[in-house]
Amino acid sequence: MHVDDIFTQAHAQGEIPVSFEMFPPKGELTLDKAREAAQKLSSYRPDFMSVTCSAGGGGNYEQTAAIAAMLENELGVSSVAHLTCISLTRAGLAERIAQYKEAGVENVLALRGDRPAKDSPLYGAPSDFSYAAQIIPALIEAGFCVGGAAYPEGHIECEDLATSVSHLKLKQDAGASFLVTQLFFDNEYCYRFLDLAEKAGITVPITCGIMPFVSKQQITRMVLMCGASLPSPVIKLLAKYDNDPASLAQAGIDYACRQLVDLKEHGVDGLHVYTMNRPSVAAAAMAALGR
Ligand code: FAD
Repeated sequence: MHVDDIFTQAHAQGEIPVSFEMFPPKGELTLDKAREAAQKLSSYRPDFMSVTCSAGGGGNYEQTAAIAAMLENELGVSSVAHLTCISLTRAGLAERIAQYKEAGVENVLALRGDRPAKDSPLYGAPSDFSYAAQIIPALIEAGFCVGGAAYPEGHIECEDLATSVSHLKLKQDAGASFLVTQLFFDNEYCYRFLDLAEKAGITVPITCGIMPFVSKQQITRMVLMCGASLPSPVIKLLAKYDNDPASLAQAGIDYACRQLVDLKEHGVDGLHVYTMNRPSVAAAAMAALGR
């Protein structure tokens, strides 16, 4: 099912769609391994699930479409396959589109992708695309329902939030019919961003992405990668449970659940949970949201 229809139907019933992100399992990837993760997560009945695609050459991307198709066809969950363009030529994009079509993918999250690191095999690879918005028309023409990424605190490479929002508008102008936000730990940043997006004329549904912190190492990596702010209550939890990893992970999940409930109470368009393939995260989020 097309994701924009999921939003339309849910909103008509006064509901907020809840979706999960999963990644193709790391290491030697078999579809069976991915199926195990997908089965566990989908058992919590999200409205749709998205499947990441590694742009940097260090992870798995070849099975993204197959996993998205498995979610739809075997597990009965609508899915979104991510597609990154930073290392693609026009011919490479056409191949990727053909692969996604053949697998039966219906929804695509159009992304530029993070720049490949110097030690990546894709470092310096020829590319015909600089921005995600540039691949949206070809994806629409191929018949996909297309979404894009949004940044409540501005994209890390972008000088200010207003410019980041104006770049986001280009995705809607190119045909994106839904947007998924980067993670954030302070909902106030999200509300400020949603207000700016509305003022900029962005009318497509924006679903709010929440990732629980589960370790100091993970949160540090995420914050440095995407530039999300760490509010004082999160820093205090990190300090409090510095020597107690299990309690820190639980505190992180509890914090994320409180964010989700607050977002729901504010009536946002949708809630997207970065599950990190952990069923415990999916379970806690759905329980907190009364689903
Ligand atoms: P773009 O929208 O192309 O923006 C990239 C930069 O260019 C920004 O600074 C933007 O402000 C600027 N820009 C855009 N248009 C213009 C223009 N016309 N002129 C000048 N500047 C411009 N990464 C992966 O590798 N795999 C994934 O599966 C993946 N999934 C993600 C899912 C979500 C929901 C999010 C939020 C991010 C995801 N990422 C993923 C990370 C993403 O690839 C990075 O954040 C990347 O750095 C930017 O991708 P983008 O598609 O938002 O880029």
